[in-house]
This record gives sequence, C-alpha cells and structure tokens, in this order.
Amino acid sequence: MQPTPAQEAALAEHCRHARYVWNLAVEQDSFWWPGRGSAPGFAERCRQLTEARAAHPWLAEGSVIVQQQALKDFAQAMANFFGGTHKRPTWRKRGRGEGFRIVAVKAEDVRRLSRHVGEVRVPKVGWVRFRWSWPVSAGVKSYRVTRDRAGRWHIAFAAIPQPVPAPGNGEVVGVDRGVVVSAVLSTGELLTVAPLRETEQARLRRLERRLARAKPGSARRVKVKAALARLKARRRDRRKDWVEKTSTDLARRFDVIAVEDLKVAAMTRSARGTAEKPGRGVRQKAGLNRGILAGGWGLLVTRLEDKAPGRVIRVDPAFTSQRCSACGVVDRRARESQARFRCRSCHHAGHADVNAARNIAHAAGHAVAAREGPRNTGPVHREPQPVLLIA
Ligand SMILES: [Zn+2]
Repeated sequence: MQPTPAQEAALAEHCRHARYVWNLAVEQDSFWWPGRGSAPGFAERCRQLTEARAAHPWLAEGSVIVQQQALKDFAQAMANFFGGTHKRPTWRKRGRGEGFRIVAVKAEDVRRLSRHVGEVRVPKVGWVRFRWSWPVSAGVKSYRVTRDRAGRWHIAFAAIPQPVPAPGNGEVVGVDRGVVVSAVLSTGELLTVAPLRETEQARLRRLERRLARAKPGSARRVKVKAALARLKARRRDRRKDWVEKTSTDLARRFDVIAVEDLKVAAMTRSARGTAEKPGRGVRQKAGLNRGILAGGWGLLVTRLEDKAPGRVIRVDPAFTSQRCSACGVVDRRARESQARFRCRSCHHAGHADVNAARNIAHAAGHAVAAREGPRNTGPVHREPQPVLLIA
C-alpha cells in the first residue's frame, strides 16, 4: 500500500484498536482455567465490546468492524490452539504483527486507477492507493491490512482459491517435515526454502551484534532494528513464496498428499527433534539455514488443503521415523543419526527423512484403501505393498 502520511497515521490507529481489543481478549482468557466453565466466546465478547464502546468514547471513535474482527481473529486463534496446530495466542506488541481486517466490502470499495495502481476505501481513512500486483477476484468480501516490521503496509483481499485439479494418476506422495531441509518427499526429493545468501547472512549476524551493543532508546538502535527487520522480512517473504509454489506443485503432481497429523506429531516428535528444537547435534549442522519453522510448516499444510481439498490425508506419525519403508520392521535403533536410516533386518539404508516420508505415503495408502473398502483378498498385513510405495 502507498498511504499518505496522514493515512498512515489513521491506519496505525486502526492497528492500535485491533491490538487493544485483542490484548483485552488475551487478558480475559488468562482468568479462565479448567473447571471454571467456558470462557466467553465470540458472540459474548462482541456484546461486551458494545458496552465498552458506550463507556469509552475513544474506543467508540474507532471502527467497529476493526474491533469486532480482532475478536474474530482471537476466536480463530483459540480454535487453532485447541486444534493443536498453533500455540496459545499471546499479547500483541506495538510494531509486531500489526494489522486489521475489514469485512462487508462492496464492489465499489475497490477501483483500479491504472495498470499498476489501485485504490481501496478503508473505513475512517478514505481511499488508499496500493500497487495492483495481483488480480483482485470479483466479489471479494473482505481484506486485511498489515504493517510488517520493516514498516511496509500490505493489503490482501480474501478470495477462496480455485482448487487445483487432481492429475488423476493415482499417485500418493508422503511429505515429511525435515529438520535440516524444509520438506522431504517420499519420491526422494529434498525441498528447501531459498535461504538468505552468504552476504545476507553475514549482514544479519553483523546487525545482530550491532543491536546487542546499541544503547536502549538510542537513535542508532532504532536504525539497526529497522535494517534488521527489513532483512528478516525478506527471509519471511521467501518462505511464504516457497509455501505457495510447493503447495501448488504438489497439488498438481499427486492425487493424494499425505502429511503427518500435527496434533499427534507434537507429542511423539520430541525425541527426533523439530525445526525449532532439533535433536542433539542438529543445531550446529543446520546453522542459519534451519528447516522450515513451525509456522511455515503449518502454512504449507493449510495451503495444501486449500488447493487440494479432500486430497490431503493426515496420518498418525507413530513410528514413521523408526519403521523401515522397505520391509516394514519397526526398529528404534535403525535411525543411526539425524540423517541416516539403516535397517538391521533387510539392510535397506538411506536418507532418514525420505524413509519417514515413504512411511507417511504408505500409511496414507492404507487410509485410502480402508476408505474405498478391501481391494484384494490377499493377506492384509503383507508388507511391503509395492503399489502403495513410491520408490
Ligand atoms: Zn528393512
């Protein structure tokens, strides 16, 4: 977005209201504990918001849509938390993850000025220009305005994406979250988010050192912080871009995409390590180019489900890292290291994450077969089943 300075102040005010309402919900929620009945839901909080607006004129001056949608975001965040895919929502801080959503958008609220420039009507702010970088779908009902830590304003119009048609080749792919690489496919492909270049990494380290030395509250600190934020925003942009490209690619190439059920994964994964908390010895190897972060992985699964609805299968991750994908024997000592898998029964050896991804594909094959009913009359537990395994 390209707001004027006056518009920027008004947008920041919307962010402040959204943050204030969100933090109230966080605070209110912290008073609840199991056995005390349920915390107020979205509808009850909206009612309370109406009361609060009547009592506090400064709150009433803000947009009711912005404030209500902050409550809606919070309700969604709590649902995600209870669903096991996200952490419990916490305080929003000034300058971090700032944004708000506008709903009930009408067609006449968005207009195109030229090939590259558009304009959107933001309540209580007016017409704000933005770079028309992507076609705006007809019939958009809502948009979200965000300010990233680098100080850039963004607008995103919400549209339900068209599902990617299945290729119809009957192929099942298993996708595992790698520790050193971002994702591993059962086909043996290792996918990695484009990391920061050597020079960028060096600059990141230099800025971080400089920030540690800068005096709190100094002008120098503000400057270093902004430079650091721009660099981190670039890394985040690349990660998001990778998620979009990877999810589209998988949805196009495979009929069924199998991923681990994160709810269960959170409980069973500790020994193996995750991206944020790698197992022993992984941190050094991974260095700055660590695997995809928890949020990035969750986003990949979400986008896969958007693009390939009904074709994403979540499988129980039990034993995926200990089971041999060639002979099916579960052996906790087969995983020699973070990267190596060596089966002591059939001597199959290979990349540990690829082995895990094959097990995920295999488990999904079983799930598909169970859904479709028995396919053959052979022994059910015969393994391996070449039809389901992708070599
Ligand atoms: Zn084996």
